[in-house]
Amino acid sequence: MAKRYTPKEELCSFCGRPAGERILIRGLNASICNECVTEAQHIVDIQRAGAARAAFRMDLKPKEIKAYLDQYVIGQEAAKKVLSVAVYNHYKRIRHAGEHPDSESDVEIEKSNLILVGETGTGKTLLARTIAQLLDVPFCIADATVFTQAGYVGEDVESILSRLLQAADYNVDKAEKGIVFIDEIDKIARKGDNPSITRDVSGEGVQQALLKLLEGSIVNVPPAGGRKHPEQQFIQVNTKNILFIAGGAFDGIDKKIAARLNTSSIGFKNENHERREGQLLRYVDSTDIKAFGLIPEICGRFPVITYLDSLDRDALKRILLEPKNALIRQYSKLLEMDKVKLEFEDEAIDYVVDKAVELKMGARGLRNIVERIMTDAMFEIPSDSKRKLTISRKYAEEKYNQ
Ligand code: ADP
Repeated sequence: MAKRYTPKEELCSFCGRPAGERILIRGLNASICNECVTEAQHIVDIQRAGAARAAFRMDLKPKEIKAYLDQYVIGQEAAKKVLSVAVYNHYKRIRHAGEHPDSESDVEIEKSNLILVGETGTGKTLLARTIAQLLDVPFCIADATVFTQAGYVGEDVESILSRLLQAADYNVDKAEKGIVFIDEIDKIARKGDNPSITRDVSGEGVQQALLKLLEGSIVNVPPAGGRKHPEQQFIQVNTKNILFIAGGAFDGIDKKIAARLNTSSIGFKNENHERREGQLLRYVDSTDIKAFGLIPEICGRFPVITYLDSLDRDALKRILLEPKNALIRQYSKLLEMDKVKLEFEDEAIDYVVDKAVELKMGARGLRNIVERIMTDAMFEIPSDSKRKLTISRKYAEEKYNQ
């Protein structure tokens, strides 16, 4: 049979279906069918709802923010309170600027970037991450120690923003309202308080580079991170509304605080030594951070400073059991999926806490320890007929030490 000529059928540029099956709306260079219009409206609605939800979340009051943090972070009352207020003010400032773009107020509300001072594994990153989760804003973690000053081998500080962009699926608008957590900020302190005597170029150079991001400027960001190349395409990101939260252990800062308070930490060498030393941290302020070696300009960009308590046995135990996503709860849930009930005896919990105290890594050690104890069981159970798993102290000891 002779081939019949069929005129080229018009297709929907979105789903590729022919005009015959659907109503086609023609544009200049493309067409869209009625079904795709409906689908597109649906996408617009979801996006709008998402934006409205985020805006609503940014409206949360400090008490509501803290109540959310309480579900995930044990203790750290002071830090949670200070952080809740700082975050509330930060997003209030953004909202205000959005609602009154032309207002020339004589009072400029300063950005509430903050520094969290506390030992490793006490919840600094967790606090920042949990806040970002609550507000549904992009979040990234950057380790200050990997950065070098411009021109040296290593990562440029701008790569922090590449990571934030990634977290925002390259939506610049979203990234510009995100939260950046800079870990180990204390490690880029210059050594010694007096810049003219002991100049530590690399630390200070990185601080200078960081300053550019903190100052609220438009930064050229290499989309894929890493180093900048002249031929590379950049994405411009305005850092004005990005909230920076920095964390560090600031080892030995207690001595600076003591010196400022005109007391001597040597005087605390008695049975209450550790307790008193911990208590000093609550007085930490910008002077101490500066004395530790952060340049005054950086200190100026972090107007809010708060501290985290070291975690005692009681806190470690609570961390294992209480938060919404506590480790033991996670394991129970995993086993429940295999229809097995998990029972962790109290003495076994105490054993885990003992080991975490020995490791001196705060709560960071807990996961590792529990994992070592649970691995064999997690391996065996799916092919077992057991319906209950009891972890006794003896079992925990055996598995941990094997
Ligand atoms: P840091 O940043 O202070 O070194 P992280 O926030 O990374 O410590 O804490 C490591 C892990 O320990 C977290 O993922 C969390 O599971 C747990 N953790 C630490 N501190 C707390 C806390 N106060 N409450 C609940 N969990 C905590």
